[in-house]
Amino acid sequence: MRGSSKRRPAAERSARLLQQQIELGGQELFLNRLTREEVFTHTEATKSGTADTLALDSIEKVKSLPVLPASYEELRSAALSCDRCRLSESRTQAVFSDGAVDARLVVVGEAPGANEDRTGIPFVGAAGRYLDLLLATVGMSRKDSVYICNVLKCRPPDNRNPMPDEISACSSFLKKQLELVNPQALLAVGSFAAQLLTGQEKTTLGGLRAEVHSYRDIPLVCTYHPAALLRNPKWTRSFWEDLQLLRAVLDSA
Ligand code: SF4
Repeated sequence: MRGSSKRRPAAERSARLLQQQIELGGQELFLNRLTREEVFTHTEATKSGTADTLALDSIEKVKSLPVLPASYEELRSAALSCDRCRLSESRTQAVFSDGAVDARLVVVGEAPGANEDRTGIPFVGAAGRYLDLLLATVGMSRKDSVYICNVLKCRPPDNRNPMPDEISACSSFLKKQLELVNPQALLAVGSFAAQLLTGQEKTTLGGLRAEVHSYRDIPLVCTYHPAALLRNPKWTRSFWEDLQLLRAVLDSA
């Protein structure tokens, strides 16, 4: 499907729009009129990377952002003062990460909620505590072995879903974070993180979980967001099974 003619028009429109903005001397290139699906499939025009890294890499091509700092602390500072998208206007503060920077495992969620926006720490509140508890069952802790961050660093108003141009604007922070932390395994919680990191934007979370994917040669397991588990406790067993898969990946690393 990735090479189907159905997707080509969106990619060609994207490429044309980018070319026009480049010719006009634009420093930051946006494709605000694209749908989420079109953003995810933009790379049809560029054909680079593997299926596992397709979406996150393609989003970086959509928006030619200023080069991000190479050091972790400078990257964090850049995110905390970032105003690349509309979410900078409504946030209390950007939420960059929590946990160990030399962690074996990185957990990637969707976006900060109200508690995170208030405290500046990802995955606090009931969902965060539940996540910590579940990670502890496989011997993992954000004190020493887990690093936690989100696809978006700023809270969408009223906890609405991230919008395509927001993901586009923010994705380079995530990509650089993963590069600098360089974990042995990744856990994507929730559909936005799972679809972005696997590059499988049309596959449901149910279709992505229960197997080991790869993001830039890092093993990647996808599962439910802990907030979803609190709403649907029957998914907890599936989450726990995904954690066993993750534990096996880490044990073999
Ligand atoms: S969500 Fe990301 S891109 Fe948007 S303002 Fe926050 S840090 Fe910047």
